Amino acid sequence: MKKLAYFDTSHEMPLEIIMAAGFSPYKIMGDVHQSNDPADKYLSSFFCGAARSWLTEALAHAKEWAGIIFAQGCNNTNRHYDIWKVHVETPFLHWFGAPLLDGDAARKYYRVELQRLISHLEKQFDIKITPEKIREAIGKSNEIKKKLKQLSGLRSEKDIPNRDYLTAMIKCLTCPVDEVSAWLDSEITLWNARPAFPSGKKRFLLTGSDITYVEWMDTLDDCGIRIVRDDLSVGERFFATLIPDANDPLESLIEYYTGIPKPATRPTLQKRLDYLYQALQETKVDGIFSQNLKFCEPYAYDSVPVNNALKARGYKVIHLERDFSPAADQQLANRLAAFVEMMEEGNNG
Ligand code: SF4
Repeated sequence: MKKLAYFDTSHEMPLEIIMAAGFSPYKIMGDVHQSNDPADKYLSSFFCGAARSWLTEALAHAKEWAGIIFAQGCNNTNRHYDIWKVHVETPFLHWFGAPLLDGDAARKYYRVELQRLISHLEKQFDIKITPEKIREAIGKSNEIKKKLKQLSGLRSEKDIPNRDYLTAMIKCLTCPVDEVSAWLDSEITLWNARPAFPSGKKRFLLTGSDITYVEWMDTLDDCGIRIVRDDLSVGERFFATLIPDANDPLESLIEYYTGIPKPATRPTLQKRLDYLYQALQETKVDGIFSQNLKFCEPYAYDSVPVNNALKARGYKVIHLERDFSPAADQQLANRLAAFVEMMEEGNNG
């Protein structure tokens, strides 16, 4: 099945429409191991490294994809769309105006945008995207979300290295849904058979910019930190809620996409905090690790009020900025190790 790629800075892209059109949704996530020189010919260096890497990937691979859809996300999205229009060769480029708000007007607008996307796909590929096909795609998406929830719940009970969870997330966002569904079944069995949560590790919640490469997750393991909860888009935001059942499948999608836990790019801060509070109530953690990728303004701006609110509730929170690089970040590792040590001293004292 051919891939239809999408540019999505959060979880805004209605994947079920891509699936109903007969394509495999592919989230462009770049490759941290490749130099961003190709993209940097067209972009200023103050765009975050992640999004620059997405353009690098598109410049090299867009011809393998049936097309590219942009879903409105952070401020990167509009500028990238303009640049990709000129420099990325693709037979199909579509702008999906995912609304920022979630009230009645936004829901109406969401429907218009869904219909516009459907018409454009139908016309381009000479297909018919029927309500039945969308309903079938919703069923498959929900199946993946349920399995991911089950899998992710094992992080606080079993010995699951941080990289294993991120690997599972990346696979679910880039590989064909049917393949992923069968793979998740076997992963759930394997993870269940793993030893118990290691006694020397601390349980943490991770928040902030999306992590897209496993090397960074290894650094956390090296510092004695296990991520057992998160609110990332390449993470829990993707499977926190299921797509509801409605007579009209477009209504199901509107309900779902306007109701998922909020990223920093969507109001309100309180709604974002609500998900964090809920996760922290469900799972006991030792600390919270908040981070933002360099030049990621939405999460950098949000981090101050979010972290102050969490600290006010008594949680131990650390915030760090990171580079977009697979190389071990010794400074970050030292600060994390010191934070963990302080926690231990606090517990013993
Ligand atoms: S890391 Fe931040 S700035 Fe970069 S694409 Fe994601 S939300 Fe936007």
